[in-house]
Amino acid sequence: MQNRTKSEALFSEALKYIPGGVNSPVRAFRAVGGNPFFVWKAAGPRIYDIDGNEYIDYVCTWGPAILGHANPVIINAVREAAANGTSFGIPNPLEVEMAKSICEAVPSVKKVRMCNSGTEATMSAIRLARGFTKRNKIIKFEGCYHGHVDSLLVSAGSGALTFGTPDSEGIPHDFIKHTLVLPFNDVVMLKDCFNEYKNDIAAVILEPVPGNSGVYLPKLEFLKTLKDLCSKNGTVLIFDEVMTGFRLSFGGAQSIYGIEPDLTCFGKIIGGGLPVGAFGGRKDIMDMLAPTGPVYQAGTLSGNPLAMAAGLAALKELKMSNTYEYLEMLGQTLETGLKKAAASAKVDVTINRKGSMLCVYFSSQPVSNLKEAMGSDRTKFARFFNLMLENGVFIPPSQFESWFISSAHTPEDVETTITAASKAFKKI
Ligand code: PMP
Repeated sequence: MQNRTKSEALFSEALKYIPGGVNSPVRAFRAVGGNPFFVWKAAGPRIYDIDGNEYIDYVCTWGPAILGHANPVIINAVREAAANGTSFGIPNPLEVEMAKSICEAVPSVKKVRMCNSGTEATMSAIRLARGFTKRNKIIKFEGCYHGHVDSLLVSAGSGALTFGTPDSEGIPHDFIKHTLVLPFNDVVMLKDCFNEYKNDIAAVILEPVPGNSGVYLPKLEFLKTLKDLCSKNGTVLIFDEVMTGFRLSFGGAQSIYGIEPDLTCFGKIIGGGLPVGAFGGRKDIMDMLAPTGPVYQAGTLSGNPLAMAAGLAALKELKMSNTYEYLEMLGQTLETGLKKAAASAKVDVTINRKGSMLCVYFSSQPVSNLKEAMGSDRTKFARFFNLMLENGVFIPPSQFESWFISSAHTPEDVETTITAASKAFKKI
């Protein structure tokens, strides 16, 4: 067991001043036991704690660090931008460059509005869809997480699921009475729901590849039916690509599956590790936003020059290099190695992966929706997490989160991870 004395002491201090000691719930290690470590610094695929321990990192700041931590190109871009001022509250050229870059990368996006988090992006996209359609109801799917928006915090994934609050307290029933929740990948239920509410469904929002209750893959028929039903019923199809955007491919999940949503939400990677969000899509819908249209949305720090500079640097790197092929290769090696290690230790696992997003469920059954994800043995996961940490590998501290691989991870890092997992599987 590593020495984490300094982290333990600082966490006691944090508990005095910060609810639960953390500024976002999953950072607390409650689902896996113990307390979080505090980060001193991070570089490439590694994260270093204040006690001097070093870990290979598969949290990657929950997705943004696709190029690894402290990538020099991003750091220099932020430095350069900061020297000219940190925020202006009036347009800056980087905002236009960012908007153009997103539109060029994701053809369904004709116009885009920047904001400061994934939560803001989904909240604004829902409001916009309601304003555009003049309808009330929205459909979301069990286990999908779209940030902590009132109307979307129903059967939600991520920390809400991990801590047993997929339906949060503090949200009046009136705020969620228009939220219809369906199981992911269930075409029949989807059709039934459209039949029942067809003239009042403003939007359907989904993670095209859900990564907030572990990772599971969409059935193509499900996505196609969704697109078809939305087109026929005048419902706005919203892909929440906050996690998958620029991660699964440069054009996101939508380019892989060949489905064009009406609106797309972004976050994480497009900020290069700084706070960011964005939503964009069809021109006629986006032009409903203030100041051109009647749907209000705003932000003091939206289009912040530091976030734009960091994000643009990240996008340029991703566009130039063969990152996605490399990530697929690493992902494939990791998946195969983990499967072999589990089999030789006679531990039942189901590993779902898309590119550089991966989840190890402690279950012998396939997982393609929340109900199946819930079948995973979370006690085993908790032991696995802690054994991995002891062996110098940091994976997300919850069964219901995705591992993220970065382009800074090397094949040797992946081999080290597989060796650590072999030891861990044998002990759980
Ligand atoms: N949508 C998805 C798919 C996400 O994964 C997240 C965050 N993990 C969000 C929305 C919310 O983003 P943020 O935490 O930046 O508010």
